[in-house]
Amino acid sequence: MAPGLWLVATPIGNLGDLSPRAVVTLRGADLILCEDTRVTAPLLARHGIAAPLHALHDHNEAGEVPRLLERLRGGARLALVSDAGTPLVSDPGFRLARAAMEAGLFVSAVPGPNAAVMALTLSGLPPLPFLFMGFLPPKEGARREAIARLRAAEGAGLSATLVFFEAPHRLAECLAALAEGFGGRPAAVARELTKRFEEVRRDSLPALAAHYASHAARGEIVVVVGPAEADAPSGAEEVDRRLRDALAAGQSLRDAAAMVAASTGLPRRQVYARALEMGREEG
Ligand code: SAM
Repeated sequence: MAPGLWLVATPIGNLGDLSPRAVVTLRGADLILCEDTRVTAPLLARHGIAAPLHALHDHNEAGEVPRLLERLRGGARLALVSDAGTPLVSDPGFRLARAAMEAGLFVSAVPGPNAAVMALTLSGLPPLPFLFMGFLPPKEGARREAIARLRAAEGAGLSATLVFFEAPHRLAECLAALAEGFGGRPAAVARELTKRFEEVRRDSLPALAAHYASHAARGEIVVVVGPAEADAPSGAEEVDRRLRDALAAGQSLRDAAAMVAASTGLPRRQVYARALEMGREEG
């Protein structure tokens, strides 16, 4: 095992998923950096790994980097793990890894479990290209804006399967927001992957939203949303369609424009101008 920084993936539930190379690497480390020593210590004990543990998390990572770089320069073997899965992926470690790379120090990884990729492979949705978004913002307004930005990117040509992490108590509202933003697209909710109650539910976004509105979800969750279809209406056609629907439903021009702007991510002024133009075109 070369001196340097080793990013080591650990299980996302099933302890049998710790790879033999991960065990060898952790055993050979001078120091193991982890998010929470209470989570990592039992995993190490199970494999008879006695290397010292040190907590590295979002709150102390920036401050710890200089000292850890010193140790790496001195020839130490440092292993970095997170509570579960692949470090750096919605987990700490990026600052340290980048600093070590910029300092010209050796950095490598022992690959392994990752909930996003496992959910993608079990979703039944096109695996390529995919866009991993991590967690959507927890607050409603910011979440809606994030979804509107994705819709706007799709309006500009992005077509990718979308992968989100979500907490169980926010799943129902997250799916409702995704259904509002992306309509009836196919999607999947992957729960408790690699664990005893593993479940993948595949359905349209509105059907999944309806299901989880009445069935509280438990455990750890990944949401996967199918891509915008190649033959889906263009951004402009979709804006026209939404405006027409809103106006037909009796909304004022101003309200219809505001609603369509919010759901597409387009500037309100632009949508309002288009609504006026449509009114003129249709006499
Ligand atoms: N670094 C991890 C990885 O590589 O998978 C992800 C860490 S992130 C802080 C934790 C989130 O990942 C959870 O809230 C959940 O969305 C997802 N996750 C982790 N383990 C999971 C599992 N066994 N089943 C489903 N989702 C999981």
